Amino acid sequence: MSRKNDQIPAEQLLRIVLDAIPLRVFWKDVDLNYLGANQKLLDDIGFKQLDDLIGQSDYAIYDTPEEAEPKRDDDREVMRTGQPKLDIEEPLPIPGKKLKWLRTNKVPMKTPSGEVIGILGTYQDITEEVEYRHLIERQALIDPLTGLANRRCLQTQILESKCEFGGLLFIDLDRFKQVNDSLGHSVGDNLLQLIASNFQEVADKHNALLARLGGDEFSIYKTFETASNIEDSLESIAQDVLNTLNKPIKLKNHVVTIGASVGIATILEASRSSQDSFAEADLAMYSAKLGGQNKYQFFTEELRISAHRQHKLYSCLQHALAQDEFYLMYQPQFDSNQNLIGTEALIRWKSAELGEVSPVEFIPIAEETGMIHEIGDWVIREALDSLQNWTALLANNPNFKLAINVSSSQFENKQLPLYIKGQLLIRSLNPGNLELEITESLLLDHKKSAVEAMEELKRIGVTIAIDDFGTGYSSLSYLATLPLNKLKIDRSFVTDLHNNSTNKKLVEAIVNLASGLDLNVIAEGVETLEEKSTLENLSCFSFQGYFFAKPLSLLEFEQSHNGFAGSCRA
Ligand code: C2E
Ligand code: CA
Ligand code: CA
Repeated sequence: MSRKNDQIPAEQLLRIVLDAIPLRVFWKDVDLNYLGANQKLLDDIGFKQLDDLIGQSDYAIYDTPEEAEPKRDDDREVMRTGQPKLDIEEPLPIPGKKLKWLRTNKVPMKTPSGEVIGILGTYQDITEEVEYRHLIERQALIDPLTGLANRRCLQTQILESKCEFGGLLFIDLDRFKQVNDSLGHSVGDNLLQLIASNFQEVADKHNALLARLGGDEFSIYKTFETASNIEDSLESIAQDVLNTLNKPIKLKNHVVTIGASVGIATILEASRSSQDSFAEADLAMYSAKLGGQNKYQFFTEELRISAHRQHKLYSCLQHALAQDEFYLMYQPQFDSNQNLIGTEALIRWKSAELGEVSPVEFIPIAEETGMIHEIGDWVIREALDSLQNWTALLANNPNFKLAINVSSSQFENKQLPLYIKGQLLIRSLNPGNLELEITESLLLDHKKSAVEAMEELKRIGVTIAIDDFGTGYSSLSYLATLPLNKLKIDRSFVTDLHNNSTNKKLVEAIVNLASGLDLNVIAEGVETLEEKSTLENLSCFSFQGYFFAKPLSLLEFEQSHNGFAGSCRA
């Protein structure tokens, strides 16, 4: 049996419904004054009873006309167009109450003839949803470890500041990786937090924005009113940043010293994209790092050009081996009687895109990127292939040495001795005919493992020569402990030797040192007869240089061999 609902007056029923639903409901007349509302709305705006609201406008609810006006604008639009306006996301700033967020719908109230006589509005409280969204948005712009702005935040700031004049500093910590690897990641995190707070002081002092870009990279962004003194200001920020790292940093159980390299890009037009400035500051930072630690460097056009070339070299170098673009030249070595005693294999690169590129330019890139391992292995195979063909030469000249340059980074590969032994073995070559030229820096950088590798190679009869000798810093006592056979006197001491008494003394000292340590010496870069004679007077009797022969192609070397010492091939 159903009860008839006409027993409840319609108005009372409406009131019950209005107060039961979670929505807030209100309606206004054409003058935008309130005609009615439900209890939840009254609670939201802090009105005790409906009578207090009826006849009032939004000006009575909000503190300022600026807060009321947007709502009234929406009302006017609905009334003017006669169309509903839905999903308006808006704040509800009630004095003395926590800010709420609403999703509001407004529809026109019309007479049966279509005349608009007011509006009816409903809204939902979406505060939680909006706050959560804001939190997420904020989180996405903050670095959780340090609480600093992150890269995205910085980029947005640069974009939004639309500032004509500014500067971007790129800060990369030096040696952070070592600390992190040796003391553990939690110490590393702690260190980053401390450094971040020191950098923050600098940023505050200069009224600039500090961000952590990731890892051990930070950035500072500063805007200026005018273009004057920008460089000086940026320089002083960079200097302050470096100063914070001047003294050792105390952590819980450790004290660490850390440095930084700073790259600076000045921004002189608002149209620059933040990516451009980032790339410039990054390049400048990289060049600062190459210049030694704790340095800063401004971006310059030359840096861009050289970076462009480096990048080109790098991308072409990646395909050079596969495209067979490398070849070797052979520069003969002689004794005082013009007898051929050896030859140095020198790599050449004929790039399809860049033409001939000097090893002085591409070997450092190969070393830095690790490509040197593959390239170095190729040099070994290629040079040994040639040596294997020189049967007649080896038969006549059993002490002949083929010298191959080996980069220090190649020695990082512990398999190198094994690789060389294997390559000699498969060609039935005598290790005594192979010489490896290594630079002094190798001995300083990678002492232990490199020395072990050298010992192993020397043991099987490979000759170990120190290249560019005299340009490094080997102490004499240290040299004595190394498994060496030969010192190769650097070209810089040989050039114009006869006119340079300091170099004469140096060469004399090197020759004496070598004889004391039972090492051979050879001089490289001998270009004139005078240089050769002076070297002989100083008891150096092995030579390489343009005076005797330039680096020769394989064919030239083999042919000139007929002149040097008979035929190469049997
Ligand atoms: P380096 O080992 O000191 O090679 C000697 C360089 O001096 C060679 O330059 C050679 O062409 C040049 N040279 C020889 N005699 C004279 C002379 O009388 N006067 C003058 N002015 N120069 C002379 P190159 O071939 O351009 O090689 C430059 C450097 O590149 C080499 O210096 C070496 O460090 C590196 N390199 C060359 N080939 C290889 C390689 O196969 N592997 C590695 N890792 N490095 C290599
Ligand atoms: Ca060399
Ligand atoms: Ca050399």
